[in-house]
Amino acid sequence: MTATDTHCPYCALQCGMTLTPEIPRVRLEPRDFPVNKGGLCAKGFTAADLLDHRDRLLTPLVRKDPGGPLREATWDEALTRITEAIRAAQERYGPDAVGAFGGGGLTNEKAYALGKFVRVSLRSASIDYNGRFCMSSAATAANRALGIDRGLPFPLEDVAKAGTVLLVGANPADAMPPSMQYLDAGRENGARHIVVDPRRTNTAAGAHLHLQPLPGTDLALANGLLHIAVREGYVDDDYVAARTTGFEAVRQATNSYWPERVERMTGVAESKLRETVRLLATNGPAMILTARGAEQHSNGTDTAQAYLNLALALGLVGRPFSGYGTITGQGNGQGGREHGQKADQLPGYRKLDDPAARAHVAAVWGIDPDELPKPGVSAYEMLDRLGTDGGVRVLMVLASNIAVSAPNTNRVLDRLKALDFLVVSDIFRSETAELADVVLPTAQWAEEEGTMTNLEGRVIRRKRALPPPPDVRNDLEMLAELSGRLGRAESSDPRTVFDELRRASAGGIADYAGITYERIEREDGVFWPCPSEDHPGTPRLFADGFPTPDGRARFVRVEHRDPAEMPDKHFPYVLTTGRNMQQYQSGNQTRRVKALTVALPEPRAEIHPDLARRHGIADGDLVELRSRRGAAVLRARLSDGIRPDTVFAPFHWPGANALTSPALDPHSRMPAFKACAVAIAKHERGSAQ
Ligand code: SF4
Repeated sequence: MTATDTHCPYCALQCGMTLTPEIPRVRLEPRDFPVNKGGLCAKGFTAADLLDHRDRLLTPLVRKDPGGPLREATWDEALTRITEAIRAAQERYGPDAVGAFGGGGLTNEKAYALGKFVRVSLRSASIDYNGRFCMSSAATAANRALGIDRGLPFPLEDVAKAGTVLLVGANPADAMPPSMQYLDAGRENGARHIVVDPRRTNTAAGAHLHLQPLPGTDLALANGLLHIAVREGYVDDDYVAARTTGFEAVRQATNSYWPERVERMTGVAESKLRETVRLLATNGPAMILTARGAEQHSNGTDTAQAYLNLALALGLVGRPFSGYGTITGQGNGQGGREHGQKADQLPGYRKLDDPAARAHVAAVWGIDPDELPKPGVSAYEMLDRLGTDGGVRVLMVLASNIAVSAPNTNRVLDRLKALDFLVVSDIFRSETAELADVVLPTAQWAEEEGTMTNLEGRVIRRKRALPPPPDVRNDLEMLAELSGRLGRAESSDPRTVFDELRRASAGGIADYAGITYERIEREDGVFWPCPSEDHPGTPRLFADGFPTPDGRARFVRVEHRDPAEMPDKHFPYVLTTGRNMQQYQSGNQTRRVKALTVALPEPRAEIHPDLARRHGIADGDLVELRSRRGAAVLRARLSDGIRPDTVFAPFHWPGANALTSPALDPHSRMPAFKACAVAIAKHERGSAQ
């Protein structure tokens, strides 16, 4: 049997693995790829269990009568029903009444094809994706400061060479365990790691310093660190003068963040603040890495900006083994935000409201620029208006389980039910698929060709090791077929789509023009930007300048704001949500893997013993969490590693997002997943969730 080198279907590390078809299923082995170097986590090791899982969707399903059951159908029947629903809605309400919700797990080819399908075949502005819930705040901050958003501007291996690493709201020990080899190697060489997290996670437990702020105060913490850096003479004045603009306004803004005040705001001791700054400034090279813990707030963009300000003031960005980065979460979270499934974006990280960008992409697509729609609304805003006047009436959902993963899910469920027609393409009957009028069975990662872009900006190949089941189609085929029925021929061949993506991205910020399938194969991935086939790709950014009009990085003045929802006497605690090691995203896949569910069968709410005692809660009791939007019942896990004013709930099961707040960051439109006010009580009867 032929072995195929490919990558894990899950997170943005995109660990290399080898698949060998054998009877009855596929043999999956880790591969010595530059990122994972032979490592895989439990999720990756068990990924092939889903290929022949008994729950797998093997044929299209349609719901004939509202409220009736989903029943098996042919592809022709399913696509005919979708086409009729699209035509009816657009005739009645206009083009924007048909929309799509994509995902950060789609290959670059599929993300590109989906964006083009909506803009060209549907002529609709209504598209956004679940990366809005994931990466959008750090992306917006990086674009403002550096002129480019590439999660890590350096290969992951550089982390091992840093003398100090500040990890803010990141827990790679649980989320992407093979990445820990770089932090471990650094520590063995004497590196100091500092973790900012309201919980003592596995990552925090191994760090030199753990800063445990109240959720929603990360910006104040960053401004406090910069205040100390200024007062203690650690600012790199030469770097600031030569390579940046705007520092004076930021310096003035941080005047009021004196250490005693920041200690009061965040709960982090002044001594730890000072030690953090000392290490970053004197134990270099130093890196600052943020992740969702700092970013998923109603001030997430400004929070990421505050850490960028700190990195620039210390002269870290663009120096070897040094700098600022954000740790992307979803498998193609990076590529998924570059090629047009975002409401305001065209391929190559071009802006939909930029006339030159519209002209370039329209020429590649063979249409008049005026035919391109204007930017649409962001993910939650689109969901919040489903089925309303001016809102989307027919929604297509690809690679996303919004019934579990969107904030304020009770509201989102109501809105999904108000649609005229819902189409879901998935590999399983997810909670979202259960609401659909048509469910389309799609191919899994091992059954398809395409490219992904990992957290380093390295474009890699996903390769087909075996064919999909007979009645299962790839989303590229599905989109091409639908497009044809709507009157426009499109290719369903991944290589042809990628070559078109290369042309559409040429000259853009995320320039893939020089990347070919063959080069990716030969070179173990190619880092964008890569404008021509003789360009080596760009593993490290910013050594010679920044892609801003004047070549300088930009400081941006930012101030602490309280979270959109503060604790009060009715909802006295802060809920923060996050990941477990055994699960991925909404759990639609990993909740079906036996080895993973045996290790962690149900969600656990993490509660400090002092808080538990106050409410008569013992370890293992069921507890009810209530917010202004809903309630969830989870089993309690008592831990003195969490702040006594904070409760943690994992988001891989239905429940946690019934509580979370849809308050949006004004710049990125990111919802405030990481801080809302809740009440807690022992739950006497019933079951979890
Ligand atoms: Fe897959 Fe991420 Fe685990 Fe690697 S770390 S095996 S990419 S889930």
